[in-house]
Amino acid sequence: NARASGIGGWAVFSSDMGQVAEHRQWIESELHAAFQRGDFDLHYQPQVDLLKGRIVGYEALLRWNHPERGAISPMEFVPIAEETGMIGPIGEWVLHKACEDARVLPENCFVAVNISPVQFMTKDFVRYVRSVLEKTGLDASRLELEVTETAMMQDKERAAAILRELSELGISVAVDDFGTGYSNLSYLMDFTFQKLKIDKSFVSRIEKDNGGAVVSTIVGLSRALGVHTIAEGVETEDQATLLRAAGCDVFQGYLYGKPAPLVIRDGEAIEVRRVAVH
Ligand code: C2E
Ligand code: MG
Ligand code: MG
Ligand code: MG
Repeated sequence: NARASGIGGWAVFSSDMGQVAEHRQWIESELHAAFQRGDFDLHYQPQVDLLKGRIVGYEALLRWNHPERGAISPMEFVPIAEETGMIGPIGEWVLHKACEDARVLPENCFVAVNISPVQFMTKDFVRYVRSVLEKTGLDASRLELEVTETAMMQDKERAAAILRELSELGISVAVDDFGTGYSNLSYLMDFTFQKLKIDKSFVSRIEKDNGGAVVSTIVGLSRALGVHTIAEGVETEDQATLLRAAGCDVFQGYLYGKPAPLVIRDGEAIEVRRVAVH
């Protein structure tokens, strides 16, 4: 609105911008209380390995359900939490909760946790991850961290060291949103990780123009690096067919299952077992 800009001549133009700024401010001021109150929850989305013919892992996705305003997307609040520092405690909670939840998931499945660049670069990140595994009793092989290439490129030497340490602990790393940030392929060669995750923006365009060729190129790059490829945002059978033809290993998307809360009965997650493997 006009108040937000303070310049009369911009009033009409900045009406939306003012609302965005207000909403932003509201999120910023609410985050702390929301966290204390326990508004946050994790949903899980299956990752399917077509060769193995089964679900191999679940990605933990953060959900904020505000008592009055309802669901607020992580795409809205995570960046703000990163700027304000709230991502620290929130991220720690996510990691701990996901590792705890993983114990009720099928034993041959891992849990994949999104790690903010801010968290990844925190001084004692690896030590913290190790302490969470110890506290929750989860085997390192059942934890995967999803880290964006942008996070890794900020301080390449440190990132390389952190990735090496994680790998030594037996924790696998997937490079999330691959191809959407700025990445330096020569550094990528020096980094230790186990998966490239093809961003859904590539998957959604796979049937158009050169989309298929682009995806094949990413799979080729994965192979050259000796890592697996996982595709996110797979919504249709046609996309899955093309991804399979391109040599993609693991699939995630609404076609296989939407993110859903864990439903635990008799110490086991039941809801997650229902997902159909195509
Ligand atoms: P991301 O890690 O790339 O997660 C994939 C997003 O795609 C998720 O959105 C997921 O719900 C959505 N998705 C999955 N399958 C499909 C599909 O078939 N079609 C479409 N259109 N979308 C699909 P979501 O849950 O809204 O999360 C958005 C982003 O927020 C995540 O992107 C991640 O960057 C961030 N985020 C979510 N949870 C956390 C968290 O615990 N910590 C941090 N640091 N970031 C998180
Ligand atoms: Mg992710
Ligand atoms: Mg992603
Ligand atoms: Mg993405």
